[in-house]
Amino acid sequence: MPEGPSIVILKEATKQFINKKVVEVSGNTRLDIAFLKDKKIKDFKSWGKHFLICFNDVTIRIHFLLFGSYRINETKNASPRLHFGFTKGELNFYACSVLLIHEDPDSIYDWTADVMNDSWDGKKAKTKLKANPKTLVCDALLDQNIFAGVGNIIKNEVLFRIKVHPESKIGKLPAAKLNALIKEARNYSFDFLKWKKDYVLKKHWLAHTKKICPRCNVHFIKKHLGKTNRRSFFCNNCQVLYK
Ligand SMILES: [Zn+2]
Repeated sequence: MPEGPSIVILKEATKQFINKKVVEVSGNTRLDIAFLKDKKIKDFKSWGKHFLICFNDVTIRIHFLLFGSYRINETKNASPRLHFGFTKGELNFYACSVLLIHEDPDSIYDWTADVMNDSWDGKKAKTKLKANPKTLVCDALLDQNIFAGVGNIIKNEVLFRIKVHPESKIGKLPAAKLNALIKEARNYSFDFLKWKKDYVLKKHWLAHTKKICPRCNVHFIKKHLGKTNRRSFFCNNCQVLYK
């Protein structure tokens, strides 16, 4: 599943279609999308893992779920869920969820919760975290209402970076660790963005999918943890359990 930084990359790659008229619309989505023909794309936005295609009076929300993908100015060997053709170029989305939003995106999206957004507000994140002291840090990082855009890779890498065990409770974290959690959720996301653009993201993974802790040279533990039950890779030696 693409995490926030990958959606930012998509947003940058689709800039070429801003102010362009959709001359062709099709796809196997069940939504009635024919009315989008001849409309101009006003903007592309992202909120966490949501990719938003904004027209004047309606917004398309794309969520890539587990296996979604896209192609720009090319196709892949599958039927697109949504296809936009322009006078020059095309945009194709596959195996994703497509939703029509009729409200103004500004009225339904809290941009301050998006770790990649200029409006990101770490203080607000802290307030939300403090309201849930029993939550495990591995669940808190994946909570899209607090850290929109953070996915499993970012979660594992952030916890390794700040030396916190994924089953630590939010309310038991020392103040410095709570601050580090919030700060690194954003920092790591921008490192992710940079590395992903340079095609070197995996090379920089220190914990995610790894077998040996590079700090301690002992085996990582791999476990599905928390309410989110996602894969965690962590070191019992250098990542402290606050419980
Ligand atoms: Zn270690």
